[in-house]
Amino acid sequence: MTVGGRKDRSLPCTAWPFIGGRSLRAAAWMGSGQTYLTRWHYGTPKEIPVSRKKVTNGQVRGIARKRMAILVRMSEEEALRGNLERAKRYMGLARRISVRTKVPMPEGALYCRRCSAPLVPGLNCRVRLRNHRIGTHCLECGSVRRRPYLRETKERRTCREER
Ligand SMILES: [Zn+2]
Repeated sequence: MTVGGRKDRSLPCTAWPFIGGRSLRAAAWMGSGQTYLTRWHYGTPKEIPVSRKKVTNGQVRGIARKRMAILVRMSEEEALRGNLERAKRYMGLARRISVRTKVPMPEGALYCRRCSAPLVPGLNCRVRLRNHRIGTHCLECGSVRRRPYLRETKERRTCREER
């Protein structure tokens, strides 16, 4: 957003995941309640930062978590609407944030590791149980991901013993 040919710094928007949005670290700095002052400098007003407080990694990761949640939700909405390319793009952005900030992807976000499409069972993915494994097939690119459900089986066993 530009006001009078320069960036408007009065609106800190920390949860702005779109292309062209601020970097995570810059957003954390904006959200930490610091403002710019305008000072006259050789006849022209100049914006100078009031203070340079350090932005912690915790703040950056908090914003990353917010943006990833937004992107995953948007990706799922787009997939349900049928815009799969856009859905993949959103999920890819969320994954990139995850890689860069070492924040795990949001809980329960189901996506294809190969084409990063959001997987909605019944729409573009097939879930099958076979050989004590959950097989999740991506119907977009055909990749399969298998995960054993050993822990759940064990829990059931202990439940039986308690009875
Ligand atoms: Zn895929």
